[in-house]
Amino acid sequence: MDPNTPYDVVIIGAGVAGALTACRLATSRPGARILLMEAGNNPTNAAQRAAFVDTYQISPTKPVPSPYAELLNNKDGFAPSSDGVPDLTVMNQYYDETGPDVFASGFQRMIGGSTWAWRGNTPRFVPNDFQLKSKYGVGVDWPFGYDELEPYYVQAENELGISGNADEWIGITPRSGDYPMPGMAPSYGDELVRAALSTIKPIDGVPVRIVTTPQARNSQPYRGRSACQGNSSCIPICPTGAKYDASFHVNKARDELGVELRTAHVATRIVPPAAADQPYTVVFRDWTTADHAEQQLTARHVVLALNAIETPKLWLLSGLGNSSDQVGRNLMDHHSAETIGLFGQPVYPFRGPQSALGVDTFRDGTFRNNNGAFRMTIGNDGWGRSGSPEKTLQSFLWDDTNKKIKLIGKPLQQALADKVTRMLRISISTEQLPDPDNRVTLSDKTDALGIRRPKIAYKLDDYSKRALAYGHSVTRRMWQHLEDTAGATQVSPVQPTLKYNGAGHLMGTMRMGEKGTAVVDAWGSSHEHPGIWVVGSSVFPTGGTANPTLTISALALRTADALAAAL
Ligand SMILES: Cc1cc2nc3c(=O)[nH]c(=O)nc-3n(C[C@H](O)[C@H](O)[C@H](O)COP(=O)(O)OP(=O)(O)OC[C@H]3O[C@@H](n4cnc5c(N)ncnc54)[C@H](O)[C@@H]3O)c2cc1C
Ligand code: SF4
Repeated sequence: MDPNTPYDVVIIGAGVAGALTACRLATSRPGARILLMEAGNNPTNAAQRAAFVDTYQISPTKPVPSPYAELLNNKDGFAPSSDGVPDLTVMNQYYDETGPDVFASGFQRMIGGSTWAWRGNTPRFVPNDFQLKSKYGVGVDWPFGYDELEPYYVQAENELGISGNADEWIGITPRSGDYPMPGMAPSYGDELVRAALSTIKPIDGVPVRIVTTPQARNSQPYRGRSACQGNSSCIPICPTGAKYDASFHVNKARDELGVELRTAHVATRIVPPAAADQPYTVVFRDWTTADHAEQQLTARHVVLALNAIETPKLWLLSGLGNSSDQVGRNLMDHHSAETIGLFGQPVYPFRGPQSALGVDTFRDGTFRNNNGAFRMTIGNDGWGRSGSPEKTLQSFLWDDTNKKIKLIGKPLQQALADKVTRMLRISISTEQLPDPDNRVTLSDKTDALGIRRPKIAYKLDDYSKRALAYGHSVTRRMWQHLEDTAGATQVSPVQPTLKYNGAGHLMGTMRMGEKGTAVVDAWGSSHEHPGIWVVGSSVFPTGGTANPTLTISALALRTADALAAAL
């Protein structure tokens, strides 16, 4: 074929949103010429996974990006080396944050995107998340309701391979189909904590109901991927592939469905056609070339799947229409906080996934008139990022003030065995309202390819702060119950705090809704540039409390169907 022939569709970004869109389109339009264009160029095979694990193992510290540190495109700092900690020095390795608060979430710039490092928890949004304005008078409504997305949730659960127990979700998220796999088995410690919390009275009238978290993690072999082996390193790398990552759909698109994959291609501009019957021009740089010179190709449809930071950045770099003035605005995350303590008896953490259980009853309620909702996870990974076993070892071993050994030999072993085996984490992940001033624009600072970096203005509003405060208040009462009934002790936080971590949930910035108030319509199609489509959590009008990726996936399938109909 003439290389100048326009592609039918170019999808920019080979994370889960882009890869799923590619698979769906190629399946429903087998003859279509589809290109998946991606900035990363890592292999997506078992040998590369093993190499990531090796890099992770020898890394002296284990931040989220540690397995991926050797990737050439990461060495040039194209994404912050973020562990979710609100540290400006880290975030501004790539972002240009102007505050006053810190946007603490990063992403992975590689084929397969951030799903390499994600935890894999996949709850659905609850029905009222789609109608926050009409129900609670805050935020905005989505252009459609839960029922519209529900069939796509089922399809997304089958695509990603979600394990879950449908009966536990009755009354929280209605379902028309079962999960493709049974829920993950709780660990020994999970069972102890669940039993201890089974006697807690409702808090503020809300039952503390513990459910098995649906997760993109195989409880049994599924579509060629093995069952979970319980390594407990889901963040930042699953050694077995039992946790879903988007390399699965990238490989499927390329190897089985005839989608062309171009890697190391960094899109820098989209140029609209001069006439409606002509294609878009996609300008890019290939960072493996000596001069990184701009190249271009053409396409009738362009799908932006670059995530909620890079999609608005590309839009603004391109100078595309923004008459709604919504491009880049309403950046959101789920601010999270860990509460940690010691259980009364050993729970033996780190056996099984990092978390299998959660509490989802505080994700909705009339309190949302006043403050954001929150999800809770019960950890199976000790104190999570608040304190690794290695840090505990150091604290027992070495007296840094007096520069001498504290404990050694049997006493050290006993102290460690007593503490590490009883470590427990209960975390909250909170709702944030969209705020137009939380915004991605273009910085004057440039990256290693000379491309302008994202500038981020960010501030927590009071509604979102109250979500954090309420989450701490509820977890404190849960710890009190564990102290009273199971000999537990809460260690941190010792006093009320609004400190938060980023969850890696980049949302907002390319809002969907009515023309004039939003960037894309309810199908992800640009109001101003027919032929440009957006997938990913950038289109979320509000963020609810569910980890976003299942909703990203359901929306991507829905947008792909609309695009297939338009081809
Ligand atoms: C530590 C961590 C834990 C998480 N845990 C969970 C969880 O438990 N559950 C959950 O639902 N979510 C979780 N998330 C979030 C989840 O990873 C993301 O929601 C999801 O991966 C987003 O997918 P995406 O395809 O929209 O974007 P991305 O994964 O960011 O993919 C975008 C792709 O675009 C490419 N790209 C960027 N710029 C360009 C360009 N200019 N040209 C070409 N390509 C480009 C990138 O390289 C990347 O491959 C977590 C995230 C992190 C960081
Ligand atoms: S527990 Fe291990 S095998 Fe299971 S998903 Fe996590 S990292 Fe993968």
